[in-house]
Amino acid sequence: MGVTIDQQAFRAYLEEQPVISSHCHHLKADEHQGMGLSGLLRQSYVNWCHVPVPEGDDPKAIENWLRAVGTRGYFVWLEKALMDIYGISERISASSWESFDRAIRLAHQDPDWHLKLLRDKCRYEAVFMDAYWAPGDDHGHPELFKPVYRVNSLFYGYNQSAMDHNGNNFQRLEGTHIADIDEYLQTMERVLREKKRAGCVAFKCALAYDRGLDFGPGNRAQAQKAMGQHPEAADIRAFQNLVMDKICQVAEEINIPMQMHTGLGLMNQSRAMVLQPLIARYPQVTFLMMHGGYPWTSDIPGLCHVYANVWVDLCWLPLISTSAAVRFLDELIDVCNADRIIWGCDNWTGEESYAARLAFLEVLTRVLTGRVETGLMRADDARRFGRMVLHDNARALLNR
Ligand SMILES: [Zn+2]
Repeated sequence: MGVTIDQQAFRAYLEEQPVISSHCHHLKADEHQGMGLSGLLRQSYVNWCHVPVPEGDDPKAIENWLRAVGTRGYFVWLEKALMDIYGISERISASSWESFDRAIRLAHQDPDWHLKLLRDKCRYEAVFMDAYWAPGDDHGHPELFKPVYRVNSLFYGYNQSAMDHNGNNFQRLEGTHIADIDEYLQTMERVLREKKRAGCVAFKCALAYDRGLDFGPGNRAQAQKAMGQHPEAADIRAFQNLVMDKICQVAEEINIPMQMHTGLGLMNQSRAMVLQPLIARYPQVTFLMMHGGYPWTSDIPGLCHVYANVWVDLCWLPLISTSAAVRFLDELIDVCNADRIIWGCDNWTGEESYAARLAFLEVLTRVLTGRVETGLMRADDARRFGRMVLHDNARALLNR
């Protein structure tokens, strides 16, 4: 049987821990300048709810918007974060809109406010930075931001005009004019190795927004056809398979992990299980499976059980659905070793990063204290697990 555990004391212990966030898209310094409430909401997942954020302070527009999105996980956690950060006891409403807006604008008059939120309020010791607008960038703060190199553009460099969902094409980014597949693969390898030398700590694959995650073995002759005039879809597929193989080979040789976006995205071949053949072909490559693979949340625990090279990155999931994150983590603890689980905030602003942190601490507290009370975990193991997931496991990745 378990023992009762003081939830508040456990939560307070978690809040004190240093954190390494495994994933974010934190905006450049100048983009935080002059930000008010509407601007902040537009740079958050609340803006992914298919209803535009109100531009002005028209009470009717605000009330209608709140009726639609005010109960969504994204909004609920961001509202809690803003109330906490700016010391406002009222909830966001048409009548309090102005107070939130003023407090946010005032704070951001300090050009370092966005960094203070990350360092002091969130206690981040380091943050993995996925700057998809400038792959591999660290915002000039290498002591805080550890860049990852987003590889999507490499899959769209078979000519000069193709592009990934961020508008990137590897050849255009690198200023090359290559029409030979071997030369292309060599150039890719050189750039990937350079990115590691320049400080990148992971390669990030966000292809679930571009295409399915089904990667078969490459075919060189067919891949070459993709680089010619009027390639067929199957040729492009073969090219992309070859590119993925090359990235995994380099990742293995230089011992850099692969961050894999799974779940939401195109919702077509984007579930984590689709990556099984790739994971099996590259047992020496660490695959950091992101976002719980939501909504297919049993895929990742299953893959963890079978493959030692599968790690779990809980980023984004507590904001998408706190209840799914609770179920996912509870199941995961049974089947995945404790030293292969990490978390990241996955946001553009310090405010929403703090919201993501609040959501995750809630998930950790509920799951871990629940397991102590039902006798599945001892209290000191629960504390150690919390510290490992918030900090130590990501530190081990950075120290590779
Ligand atoms: Zn992200």
